[in-house]
Amino acid sequence: MLLRLQTEVLEAVARGEPLVSVADLLCRRAQELASDAICSILMVDAESRLRPLAAPSLPLSFSSAIDGVAIGDKVGSCGTAAFRNEAVMVTDIATDPLWDGFRSLAEPLGLRACWSSPIRNSANQVVATFAFYYRTARGPDDLERSIVETCVHLCSIAIDNEIVRERSHRLAYYDALTGLPNRGRFNELLGRAIRLQVPFGLMLVDIDHLKLVNDTVGHAFGDMLIRTVAERLANCHPSLTACRLGGDEFAILVSDCHSDHALRDAANRMLNAVSGLIQMDDQTIDPHITIGGALFGPDGDDEASLSQNADFALYHAKEIRRGGYVRFTPGMRTAMMERATMVRNVDQALADRRMLVHYQPIVRLDTAEIVGLEALARMRMPDGRIAAAGEFHAALADPRIAWQLTGQMLTQIAADIRQWLDLSIPFQHVGINVTTGDFQRGDLESRIVETFERTNVPLKHLILEVNESVYMAGSDQMVPKAVSDLRQRGLLVALDDFGTGFASLTHLLSFPVDVIKIDKSFIDRLGADRASDVVVGSIIDIARKLDIKLVAEGIESASQASILSELGCSMGQGYLFARPGSFADTTHLLSMFSQRIAPNPAPDANGDQLRRMD
Ligand code: GH3
Ligand code: MG
Repeated sequence: MLLRLQTEVLEAVARGEPLVSVADLLCRRAQELASDAICSILMVDAESRLRPLAAPSLPLSFSSAIDGVAIGDKVGSCGTAAFRNEAVMVTDIATDPLWDGFRSLAEPLGLRACWSSPIRNSANQVVATFAFYYRTARGPDDLERSIVETCVHLCSIAIDNEIVRERSHRLAYYDALTGLPNRGRFNELLGRAIRLQVPFGLMLVDIDHLKLVNDTVGHAFGDMLIRTVAERLANCHPSLTACRLGGDEFAILVSDCHSDHALRDAANRMLNAVSGLIQMDDQTIDPHITIGGALFGPDGDDEASLSQNADFALYHAKEIRRGGYVRFTPGMRTAMMERATMVRNVDQALADRRMLVHYQPIVRLDTAEIVGLEALARMRMPDGRIAAAGEFHAALADPRIAWQLTGQMLTQIAADIRQWLDLSIPFQHVGINVTTGDFQRGDLESRIVETFERTNVPLKHLILEVNESVYMAGSDQMVPKAVSDLRQRGLLVALDDFGTGFASLTHLLSFPVDVIKIDKSFIDRLGADRASDVVVGSIIDIARKLDIKLVAEGIESASQASILSELGCSMGQGYLFARPGSFADTTHLLSMFSQRIAPNPAPDANGDQLRRMD
């Protein structure tokens, strides 16, 4: 009979039934075997308080009255058994002092005796008690003793099993570093919210510049940053449920969120909650996050589209509003899709060697002689048409594509220069555009040097054109430092698209460049609006004071050229002089219009060259 009880309970444990059901089954079967006994199982929680688990024949009011009572040396049979870690037999509740504080609970129910045994876990700690109550003042008989012995053993197995299950549930659903729900749990929560059709918002959050923190102050600080951001997000507001998706990315479900306004409020709350210095040892950092948000319904009504749209918004926010919040709009999806198509096309063109180099001359404004060239990437389409940069430019935001393109451009430029040198075509420099992707890998210098050495072309023929936003990107001065190293090598560096970003004078003093290229947007407005004339005039003044050469980009009319000359800018490029052209066209132009430089120019005769002759 006992064996049947044992088998039945163990099967329930093996089936993974909840502990409460297993305990209830155990009590019922034990009562069937010991027909005079009333069975009760109480758990002992981490704070050493009694927590009723199963007592199918006792009224709920009895269990509720015991719930939360701290164990102790005179706390009925069970509280005392748990406290002493030994069985406690009270044969007469009416007189036993252990029941002094609890007698009034037992007597109205006709309970006269109670024998309680501690249940221990595998570490020998008391985790529960198993009790037999009797309606007469008595102790157990032999059969009851063996039933209780078996039940205590089974309870111990069931509780251990529950602990293992809880632990594996925690491992499966909670992140070890932060304790937040993980991606698996997030998917369940998101799925549930969608099934319930309740209004909610989804925010995707990514910590800014974590790689930099890892690299500069160490991985331990990086971990601490993730933990602190997690904690701040988790405690931000009761309506927000924060999950860690992985790495430095979090998802936050915003409950009861109906509108754009509510979503924005939640984002602001999160941004405020996360801010505040974090200190570890003697290092301090100011954490920043970027948030992309989407509203269930308008921005997606299933898991996949809502998550993807919040992701688009986050991606967009990282590009235009780092440290801030952006909500999804359908245009973001289109832009991302177009970019993905472009990346695929450029990838294929790189593999097929269909990326070409065209050159646009840079000229002296007064004589139109060619003083340099800018190399521009072009893509030969499968149908033979040559696509201009605008058709694939967005693909270059992908650092891998940018890196590969620069490699192929460098090889082609070095080969073309080698030919001009071999043919004695008069020629000075070629500018190549480099992007953040080129600097990120830290190998730009070695790639340039190796490529040019292979073709035996001196580095003085190359100008590195660094876009102002690339130059200023990041707070770590990585690009200006790399630029400064390259200048040491003898390369000239031009700051491209000047005036479109925030490159400051102080920057140019600490990390000087050789050439500033004034952005076409200023040249377009020259003569038409006085402000542009003033800006261009002051850029020219700054450049002159810092001894930096100037090139005006995008000159399309003779009047623009003459205003620039009057303002003191002597070099420029644009359709007025020449459109970008192939190697053959450029060779022809160079042989016709290149500036011939005297071998020993007078000391002040160099205002119309990008490089002083050495
Ligand atoms: P961004 O500002 O654009 O978000 O760049 P980021 O440097 O934060 O890098 P990104 O978000 O693209 O990638 C997250 C980086 O965080 C990648 C990895 O080096 C680092 N990382 C991922 N998981 C952990 C982690 O558990 N601990 C630490 N310390 N770093 C991690
Ligand atoms: Mg990040």
